[in-house]
Amino acid sequence: MMIEFDKVLKESLWNNSIIFLKDAIERIVSTNIDREIGTERGLILLTCSSIQVSMELALKSFIIDNYGVRSILVSSQYRMQDDEIIRLYNSNKIRTKTFEELKKFLKQNNNNILTEDDYDIISDFQKFRNIIVHFIPNLSDGDYFDLEYDVIQYAIHVLIKILKNGDDLIKSSEFLEHHLGWELREKLIKYEPYLHAMSSLVRQNSDKVFDCINCGHRTFSMEEQICYSCNFENHFYYLIDCCFCKEKKSVIYDNLNIKGNNHIMKGVCLNCGEDGMIYQCPDCERAHNIEVNCENQCLPGKCINK
Ligand SMILES: [Zn+2]
Ligand SMILES: [Zn+2]
Ligand SMILES: [Zn+2]
Repeated sequence: MMIEFDKVLKESLWNNSIIFLKDAIERIVSTNIDREIGTERGLILLTCSSIQVSMELALKSFIIDNYGVRSILVSSQYRMQDDEIIRLYNSNKIRTKTFEELKKFLKQNNNNILTEDDYDIISDFQKFRNIIVHFIPNLSDGDYFDLEYDVIQYAIHVLIKILKNGDDLIKSSEFLEHHLGWELREKLIKYEPYLHAMSSLVRQNSDKVFDCINCGHRTFSMEEQICYSCNFENHFYYLIDCCFCKEKKSVIYDNLNIKGNNHIMKGVCLNCGEDGMIYQCPDCERAHNIEVNCENQCLPGKCINK
């Protein structure tokens, strides 16, 4: 009985967390932002409060999922019988621990889903949320500018980690596309604070980050062959070394269609942006930029490796 109850509860909390996340993202990316003037202060405050509500719901859902519903209840309700807890829930009398207590619970239970930095970010937003709710934040234009970037970073780096239940196989951009919808994700790709958050996330996970051939942003992980901003995944294109910037395996070209195109296709370096015509030898399959360094390379009709 309790397993089923936990499941229903954690799913409801999770779904409500997504409603607040979607609301926050939808509002902030749908405004026509003039970056010179900055986003309206009220909108940034609303975004902060929606993201914080989303975080509080997500954290409860996560704890129920991993430790059961009793872990989120106040001590007076903790030892109650299962049917009593369900009865309290049905009459809206369930009482949960504070966000601070839940955060501590997660930390004490050695759940390594979050890093020390993540906990610090959570504490900062928690304090800020309290200022919004109980008083008026005293912030300059520059503070508001930073806050907009910080809140999106918080959503991408911390909140989504909790919502994904620590599943590293799902990328944050995939998660957002799936739960916010393609249209909203398209707007996010043009939103500076999102690109900034994705850029720092990809740099945490990948030593080499180059330009994405799909969206053009420098958020393409060379290790994973995935773009953190737009979800483009490279499964088919080949990569060769760049003769301009000397980077290894950074020039991308369409090897699927090159044979039907006289073995020549345009290629571009994802690191330095230089392009050139790539020749893939039909005999030995080696490829190179035929506009430069043609010595000791295969040429049409002449394979040097044969
Ligand atoms: Zn991309
Ligand atoms: Zn290059
Ligand atoms: Zn050859």
